[in-house]
Amino acid sequence: MRLKNLNNETKRCNNLPDADIVIAGAGVVGLAIASRLASPSRRVFILEKNFSFGQETSSHNSGVIHSGIYYPENSLKARMCTRGRELLYEICRTRGVPCLKPGKIIVATGEDEIGQLEALFNQGMANGVTDLKLLSRRQLRTLEPNVEGSGALLSPSTGIIEPFALMNCFLQQAREGGAVFAFRTEVTGLEKSADGFTVSVKDSQGSFTFDTHVFINSCGLYSDRTAELAGIDIDSAKYRIHYCKGHYFMLKHRGPPPVSRPVYPVPETDGAGLGIHITPDIEGNIRLGPDALYVSSISYGVADSGREAFWKSARRLVPGIDINELFPDFAGIRPKLQAEGEGFRDFVITNERERGLPGLINLLGIESPGLTSAPAIAEYISGII
Ligand SMILES: Cc1cc2nc3c(=O)[nH]c(=O)nc-3n(C[C@H](O)[C@H](O)[C@H](O)COP(=O)(O)OP(=O)(O)OC[C@H]3O[C@@H](n4cnc5c(N)ncnc54)[C@H](O)[C@@H]3O)c2cc1C
Repeated sequence: MRLKNLNNETKRCNNLPDADIVIAGAGVVGLAIASRLASPSRRVFILEKNFSFGQETSSHNSGVIHSGIYYPENSLKARMCTRGRELLYEICRTRGVPCLKPGKIIVATGEDEIGQLEALFNQGMANGVTDLKLLSRRQLRTLEPNVEGSGALLSPSTGIIEPFALMNCFLQQAREGGAVFAFRTEVTGLEKSADGFTVSVKDSQGSFTFDTHVFINSCGLYSDRTAELAGIDIDSAKYRIHYCKGHYFMLKHRGPPPVSRPVYPVPETDGAGLGIHITPDIEGNIRLGPDALYVSSISYGVADSGREAFWKSARRLVPGIDINELFPDFAGIRPKLQAEGEGFRDFVITNERERGLPGLINLLGIESPGLTSAPAIAEYISGII
């Protein structure tokens, strides 16, 4: 149903603003928020510019349920990841979303990286990831016979999930709660009104406006543009999104898979990515990636020319990998708040009261661990509305 028709009906009935809550963006975060906030006593609309949900970053990622090791203590990334992980396993158990919990290992490829493993162990413990274990070379070999390293950090609570199954679960929950989805519907304007916001949208039949009390900007790679629609200067607010592309190669290996859990190197020192890792997905396919490359525009192509660099990286962890078994697969784009070379930036999740825009909830920089964090972000937002 077109929102315009729905709104005319509701307006005639009760003279209220058309919506209580509008969520822009049906990626995993927008969907998790919708599933949390949907209720028969509220009109919740989800607007998505694409033909369906989850067509962008939420379906172009590693599908790893992170435990919460890497992020500074008390950062939103650390808090949302550890809480989100707990909630995700609960959702998988109670709603039948397929996931696995094989744990993961971060491997020191030489003695000089053992100190980094110890630092990660301490960081993880500080973040409440209390089941971490440092492994010797021999213990690593016993766990993953094809992996070469001087030692490793084992994170038993890391898992793997199928992102579409999770998003579908959130979508169903939101619909059960009465939320209304409008696909092929793009938010093109956002203006403060007496009681909230007037939202301008464009769909296949043209443009129209309607009113809402609360507007949640969960637009991923476009979240800075959506914040700008409300009149926010995204440069002085430090909201500009920088695109950082990650490519994947598929390993088409004859025989049993070379690893049985995600295998990571110690993270890159520039903080752009976690380093090219070797990850089984829920169906047992093995992928290498992602790398981390700042780009100026959004395109998802993967060139075969990257094959050798991927092979060299992966071979440091699993020497038996054959370059002829690697094939370009897909790419994802991280919506980063930090420009190339800049230091750590946390998620931004804020009610823009201080900018005179109460009820505008902006989410920016929801890069990894955003998939893991989605249900915790939804819980957090229900608290700040
Ligand atoms: C390479 C890569 C690997 C990753 N690996 C992991 C991992 O293993 N584990 C993990 O936890 N996280 C991972 N992440 C992070 C995770 O994928 C993201 O944090 C998460 O998907 C973000 O979800 P989102 O809903 O915020 O954004 P998106 O999925 O980008 O959704 C935003 C939606 O908003 C819509 N939209 C935008 N503008 C408008 C508009 N004006 N009007 C209407 N709709 C609009 C878009 O069409 C889109 O559907 C990875 C990310 C990348 C790039």
